[in-house]
Amino acid sequence: MSKTVHVIGAGISGLAAATRLARAGLVVHVHEAMQQAGGRCRSYFDAQTGLVIDNGNHLLLSGNHAACGYARSIGTEAGLVGPERAEFDFIDLPSAARWRLKLGGGKLPLWLFDANSRVPDTSIGDYLGLMPLLWAPTTRLIGDTIKCSGPLYDRLVAPLLLAALNVDPPEGSAGLAGAVVRETLLAGGQACRPLIARDGLSAVLVEPAVAQLAASGPGVRFGHELRGLTSSGDRVGALQFGGEDVVALGPDDAVVLAVPPRPAASLLPGLKTPQEYRAIVNAHFNYAPPPGMPALTGVIGGVVEWLFAFPNRLSVTISNGDRLVEAPREQLAAEIWGEICRIAGITANLPPWQIVRERRATFAATPAQNALRPGPVTQWRNLYLAGDWTDTGLPATIEGSVRSGNRAADLVLAAGRA
Ligand SMILES: Cc1cc2nc3c(=O)[nH]c(=O)nc-3n(C[C@H](O)[C@H](O)[C@H](O)COP(=O)(O)OP(=O)(O)OC[C@H]3O[C@@H](n4cnc5c(N)ncnc54)[C@H](O)[C@@H]3O)c2cc1C
Repeated sequence: MSKTVHVIGAGISGLAAATRLARAGLVVHVHEAMQQAGGRCRSYFDAQTGLVIDNGNHLLLSGNHAACGYARSIGTEAGLVGPERAEFDFIDLPSAARWRLKLGGGKLPLWLFDANSRVPDTSIGDYLGLMPLLWAPTTRLIGDTIKCSGPLYDRLVAPLLLAALNVDPPEGSAGLAGAVVRETLLAGGQACRPLIARDGLSAVLVEPAVAQLAASGPGVRFGHELRGLTSSGDRVGALQFGGEDVVALGPDDAVVLAVPPRPAASLLPGLKTPQEYRAIVNAHFNYAPPPGMPALTGVIGGVVEWLFAFPNRLSVTISNGDRLVEAPREQLAAEIWGEICRIAGITANLPPWQIVRERRATFAATPAQNALRPGPVTQWRNLYLAGDWTDTGLPATIEGSVRSGNRAADLVLAAGRA
């Protein structure tokens, strides 16, 4: 096939679509508004810490098959590293209690039957109480579906769903939460091994894809923002990048629009998109973790929710972080560092730090916002949508992004065969 596809946006969704199409032999042009690829999943040098940091710590699980497949397809699956077994260390900050959740390595959640593997102070009955999530519709609230209190909720369900949905769990969509639980906890330890791009998001998930695209075709054009689309009958006929910079599309050419909801809505007036977002706050500290520290620690009862130990830094993630977006940076850094010292068992002055607040990290995964997610097909026969905010059946995650990109690419390929 020699048809040309224009992919707009070089985030994970656009890169997944573009690399899949390029591997199928199509000529793929990627147009990225910024000077860097990766969108909300990228690394950069930060002068304040003197480190290359990620805009946000990203956690994948081994059950994220599309994301792992994408990494494999760009040759970097080995760059997603994690412990051999699906084990998660937790600390309850107020009581200083620590425990390790051991999910085993199988395809069934057999760990539920072992009191030493379960969350402390929980019984099998507590876990059975999560069952209604498995078949809940996306229109239902989590708070109306399961009990949002008690040790299991506080120590496992809330941290998991907060991280996955990026909303206060009771207000989240039960159907989206159910999809996460089905694909992870219910699929046994083999689906729950935590995976981290230890050498950085860009090195593992972005730059290799950009290089692959450059090697197989025109590649990514940076600083090339799409400003408008011109229709020609039931097709998109031209792409306007500003001024004289107009690209006319041939009769077989296609477009994958893989931009966030706001630019998508301004490029396609009338398109329904989610309107509400939630922030994620990350804090990075130039401090090498003490020997033996787990790569990931879940934190209950603190400002910190997850502590990541990278070889050269300690980093924390705080989801649903709108309350912290206006908080004074120095005060926040000091408070977070105080908690890190307690979690890591260290005593040290505040090292060089950086706080990254992504205000529109994800759309709000509530039933109302989920109902606004469009599918990949548009009123134009040669224009398809991708993005973590399109209707993937998952919350806004890398897994959802890759699936959306794969789906848009498959639709382009299917249309070419029709
Ligand atoms: C702080 C943070 C932490 C996160 N943690 C996790 C995690 O732990 N696990 C997980 O799975 N997910 C996590 N996510 C979510 C994950 O990052 C996103 O789901 C994913 O990166 C979205 O990719 P995307 O390609 O759909 O969108 P984006 O990354 O937003 O990419 C869209 C691209 O389109 C470009 N663009 C916009 N307008 C135009 C235009 N007009 N023309 C050309 N280009 C344009 C943008 O510059 C951008 O590069 C996190 C997100 C954040 C922000």
